[in-house]
Amino acid sequence: MPPVAERAEVVVVGGGVIGLAVALELSAAGRSVRVMERAQPGSGASHGNGGLLTPSHSLPLTQPGMVRRVLGWMLRDDAPIYVRSRFDLGFLSWGLRFARHCNAGAMQNALRGRAALLELSRSLFDVWVERLSLAIEYETVGLMEVYATEQGRDQAQDAHALLAEHGIRSEAFTRAALLQREPALRDDLCAGQWYPSDAHLRPDTLVNELVRCARASGVRVDGDTLVTGIDTERGRVSGVRAGQEFVSCDQLVLCAGAWSPPLGRALGLKLPIQPGKGYSITSARPSICPSVPLLLKEANMAVTPWASGLRLGGTMEFDGLDSTLRRSRLDALRSGAARFLQQPLGEDPVEWCGFRPMTPDELPLIGPSPSFPNAIIATGHGMMGVSMATGTAQLVREILTDAPPSVDPAPYAPQRFG
Ligand SMILES: Cc1cc2nc3c(=O)[nH]c(=O)nc-3n(C[C@H](O)[C@H](O)[C@H](O)COP(=O)(O)OP(=O)(O)OC[C@H]3O[C@@H](n4cnc5c(N)ncnc54)[C@H](O)[C@@H]3O)c2cc1C
Repeated sequence: MPPVAERAEVVVVGGGVIGLAVALELSAAGRSVRVMERAQPGSGASHGNGGLLTPSHSLPLTQPGMVRRVLGWMLRDDAPIYVRSRFDLGFLSWGLRFARHCNAGAMQNALRGRAALLELSRSLFDVWVERLSLAIEYETVGLMEVYATEQGRDQAQDAHALLAEHGIRSEAFTRAALLQREPALRDDLCAGQWYPSDAHLRPDTLVNELVRCARASGVRVDGDTLVTGIDTERGRVSGVRAGQEFVSCDQLVLCAGAWSPPLGRALGLKLPIQPGKGYSITSARPSICPSVPLLLKEANMAVTPWASGLRLGGTMEFDGLDSTLRRSRLDALRSGAARFLQQPLGEDPVEWCGFRPMTPDELPLIGPSPSFPNAIIATGHGMMGVSMATGTAQLVREILTDAPPSVDPAPYAPQRFG
């Protein structure tokens, strides 16, 4: 073993929204924490996403009939979910697991687990914003789902009913009421569904603010620090390696998003995570700008308005960790927005892509490694990492300090896939 150069009680691997929230929470619980991030903190998936905090998205993708839909989309370059045809055993095995979860029982299970964490996080965001004075353009104004067609509206009815069973209320808007509520929409749409308890924030400023607060509370946040190995000794993690450096620790939290599987293997876990690439386009505010976040149903995309700009985001592409910005995907966002909005974008658009850490059952992986109990996994948040960040941080703190958990951690057990 190389000489011990550094020491921290807790090392957090990965400085995205999950790693930073966990670091802040553990620091508030009195631990000395170090975050090791291979690039700039907050530059992964947590940077250019929609920033929506959405209990309304508790329903997972793993729904009956989803496999047929994805197969139908597979070869369409502009499809909402695009799978590049390639031979990759890891992806094939992930895809089979995903297919096995597309049934009513597994969907209900995922819905329960997602709703619990989403609602906990949603209420904790109110507390964090207040307590830490986070300047993140946080607004609790709800979210409007918008349907261009009667077919789109009718297909969504079952989802509203399922969500209502879990206490996530919504209200139907006729076309006239929709246009009155949101005049930035085009006038040839069909209807809307209003989710009053959703919120939104600006995710790039959120991660900057989390770094600021973490550093102010004594957390060491290191960018440009690639963790290359995890050392173990007698059934416990003893420290991590970053090139020539070795940092010993009492506890480790793995929050490396879509890049987690190789480090998971060092902890005795096969983490079934595939990168689900998504795109966003961010501009200045257009002169006719929506006043609330919108989910454009038939276009499968979201629109987030802030005082500082407007973001279009969406699409899901399974093609490994290739960060090429594909024109067809970005064009699909632009044309989708043009179908619903009078002015789809403002000036100075900036294009971006990021990798969602997708699990095959649409539930995150949160909990200790059975082989190395002083290592906690906190990753695999898929399309909901911002929405679940504060709840995840609280749950990790409770696991790590043996406190009673705020939500049942069983659905998130990282070893549930064997
Ligand atoms: C287009 C798009 C829109 C989205 N919209 C929303 C939304 O509206 N609401 C929502 O809740 N979620 C949304 N998401 C999902 C959300 O962005 C992710 O779930 C979330 O950012 C995941 O956070 P994370 O910290 O796990 O991952 P990341 O932000 O990717 O952070 C992981 C970090 O680990 C680092 N890392 C990896 N390996 C190592 C290593 N070996 N050593 C050191 N560091 C390492 C990486 O560099 C990275 O910074 C969206 C995603 C996309 C792509």
